[in-house]
Amino acid sequence: MAKTMERINPLQAFGPALCSVQNPSSYIGGEIGATVKPHGEDDGLLNVAIAFPDVYSIGMSNQAIKIIYNGLNARNSVRCERVFAVESDFESLLRQKNLPLYTLETGMPLHCVDLVGFSIGYELGITGVLNVLDLGRIPLLKSERTDGDPIVIAGGVGATNPAVFSAFFDAVFIGEAEGGLFDLIERLAAMKKNGAARRDLLAECVRHPSVWTQDMSVARCGHTVARRAVQADFGSVPSVESFFPLPNIKTVQDHGVVEIMRGCPNGCRFCHAGIYYRPQRVKSRDLIFAETDRLVNEAGYREISLTSLSSADYPDIGGLLDELNRRYRAQNVSFQLPSLKANSVTLPILAKLSEVRKSGLTFAVETPDEAWQLRLNKEVYAQHLVDIITEAKRRGWNKAKFYFMVGLPFPETDGKTEESVIVDFLRDVQEKTGIRCNVNVGTFIPKPHTPYQWVRQISPEESERKLTYIREHLPRGKFKVSTHDVATSYLEGLLSRGDERAGMVIYRAYQKGCRLDAWEDHLRRNLPLWEAAFAEAGYDVKAEILRPRDHDEPLPWDSVSLGPAKHFYEKEWQRHLAETLTPKCTPGCDHRCGICGNNVSCKNSDAVHKSGHLDDTLPLNVQKNIRQTCNIPVLYRVVFSFTKRDGGEYIAHLSLIEQFNRAILKSELPVVYTAGFNPLPRLEFASTLPLGVTSCDEIASLLLYEPVSEQAFIDALNRHFMPGIRISRSFVFPVTNLRRRESLASGLWGSIWRYQFFGAENSAVRDFFAGDGARPFLQDASSCAFSGCGLRDDKLAGTTDERTLTARLAFRQERPFREALESFFGKKWYEFAAIAKIQTLAKPDAVSFFALYERIAAINAELIRQRDERNT
Ligand code: SF4
Ligand code: SF4
Repeated sequence: MAKTMERINPLQAFGPALCSVQNPSSYIGGEIGATVKPHGEDDGLLNVAIAFPDVYSIGMSNQAIKIIYNGLNARNSVRCERVFAVESDFESLLRQKNLPLYTLETGMPLHCVDLVGFSIGYELGITGVLNVLDLGRIPLLKSERTDGDPIVIAGGVGATNPAVFSAFFDAVFIGEAEGGLFDLIERLAAMKKNGAARRDLLAECVRHPSVWTQDMSVARCGHTVARRAVQADFGSVPSVESFFPLPNIKTVQDHGVVEIMRGCPNGCRFCHAGIYYRPQRVKSRDLIFAETDRLVNEAGYREISLTSLSSADYPDIGGLLDELNRRYRAQNVSFQLPSLKANSVTLPILAKLSEVRKSGLTFAVETPDEAWQLRLNKEVYAQHLVDIITEAKRRGWNKAKFYFMVGLPFPETDGKTEESVIVDFLRDVQEKTGIRCNVNVGTFIPKPHTPYQWVRQISPEESERKLTYIREHLPRGKFKVSTHDVATSYLEGLLSRGDERAGMVIYRAYQKGCRLDAWEDHLRRNLPLWEAAFAEAGYDVKAEILRPRDHDEPLPWDSVSLGPAKHFYEKEWQRHLAETLTPKCTPGCDHRCGICGNNVSCKNSDAVHKSGHLDDTLPLNVQKNIRQTCNIPVLYRVVFSFTKRDGGEYIAHLSLIEQFNRAILKSELPVVYTAGFNPLPRLEFASTLPLGVTSCDEIASLLLYEPVSEQAFIDALNRHFMPGIRISRSFVFPVTNLRRRESLASGLWGSIWRYQFFGAENSAVRDFFAGDGARPFLQDASSCAFSGCGLRDDKLAGTTDERTLTARLAFRQERPFREALESFFGKKWYEFAAIAKIQTLAKPDAVSFFALYERIAAINAELIRQRDERNT
């Protein structure tokens, strides 16, 4: 099964054309913490691409991707690399260059890997899946794949009705990767080493008890139902590392994540995730502390999210927050509980959350009507909410977010509708508390593997009527209402409970141009294409999406078991009708759903997981405290030069600042921070480089509260940057309050640039200098000097190369000169030249920044000497 593969280096393959796409750093890899396993001559490793069906900025926040990536790369026999769906501009660039989509670590063309694994967190990601396969040159339909193609598998919470995706995936892994996927992949790696062919590997895959494939039989698979894999020891053994690699750009959730618990004890009857992640398994505090230490000290995060389906159900969550706040307060690390069940938020928890930085106050209410809450098996007491919000307001929160759903299977009457009870409830809470309310309302989609899997889905028209009522009856100013797009919910209904026919609808929609439909704006734009695909389906798609299912009809997902048997869902449905609550999960519960058994059990004991670390005498494995500007007697300033190349040129300035902030925190250098609630290093840049322009002399500075040696400074930071960003020189000197500290930008004179022209523009640049466009620059000799491309200025050493122009430009002329060239050639600079900054120059006479700051250091030293002399 050895494959020859020409790997793609995106920096060489696209060159400056990367500037033509949004977020170019999404496509170049090279992130800190990425695992790059060098390719040896026929090294026999199993090459796996872990794929996410949405773009980099979303996929890099996905925990499952990082867990699988790090879990597989921990196996010596496996090389796991990442690939994400791309935006349309990059898709055009790939097609224009006739290149396949590739993995980020070593540029493996996707069609050359052995196995592509998609993590499907949300059903609507499917057009992203097809886009990745298509651009990766892998046949979309599994029936068209042959021995030379990769095996394409999927998994995740959005793939529990795999029948819909059966045309595309060779196999689907049901459940948690730690519960069996890693071992399976390792077995496949061993088989590859022994020369197994694709069909042998696939045969091994489908024999796994948690793997679903379209035509399961005992003879072929050994089972006819794929049973969900569960990591039984979650919480009592260290979790797979999930914070590396660190993204190149700001992602949708740009903070550290500790998964403190898996599963949720609450059993809300509409909740698919609640079933998928059963049983509740609590992570020990010691493991939480160890993971937090690494996130703060190794990854450089100062905001940590304590995630789970319902974090307030973590035993003694208040004690955990106390300990975390104590350990990390000095480093200004804040902790968020992103998912709080409304009734679980207590006043003490609120107090602890308000100790550092304020995170959002969010309540998932679903419906405020108490009888309907009994049907949902979810109680939210209105008075409790009012009490909590009143106290939160007193503590400084000024807004709260509420989630509701419409379309739940409730017996509405003329006087009591879902929308009217939501409006009445919100107006009442707002009146009593005075809080500003952000209200989010979605349409309920019946999900497979829940007690509501049989109910009808309301039509888009009914949904729109309900949502409009809510929007119109909550006054702006006090309420900000956002509603889910009804078309999105409608399509999600097709994918959630559809059968194999839905796969062909998706296929046609993709062929018609649908892409990234998990984004509401994309889906709205693509709606006519979806409608056209529905029209060609050969069955009434709309009726199929909306219809209720008979309780005894076979369901498309019957060949998957998440644990509970069908009679459990049926029993829960009867309890819904009877408005009866089912108690929370507890070890040894008396309402067994079928999940806890031989190896797997609900683990939520408070006693087991208290570690006693509240003892203040225990050493804390944390860095030096950060120091803020106030009360520091002597300050030092370090001015330094760094490179931005080899991919670093595509890191946008704000992301660069973030990388510096993280590197500084990890370096433990004695850096001074700003004052306030969100202290940041006192970091300053002389200028901002346009995206795609390389530089070997960017200038920045930091304030220090202790001197460090110049080399120690360089070494401490360089180990935390990607290879293209390198500090090459630094200069440390004391500063004094006897004179005003000048900003770097105020000392900026300009820069020396090198323009390397491509092809025809190479000779045409002479015409530019002969024409009117160049006159303002040629006549401004004090600000501009040029060498190369037929010009020679003695102020510039070196370049007489015909293809290369060296330009020394004062800052005010840099941009006009680039724009004059763009206007002359009629295109953007990156289409005719590569630009590099050679040196940043300082005032007054275009010297190096180090020369300027050596002068300033001498002045400071003299002032300090005079003051000391006066004082003695
Ligand atoms: S609290 Fe309810 S809705 Fe939330 S995760 Fe648990 S079961 Fe699901
Ligand atoms: S068996 Fe009981 S405790 Fe275990 S997951 Fe099911 S309901 Fe919860």
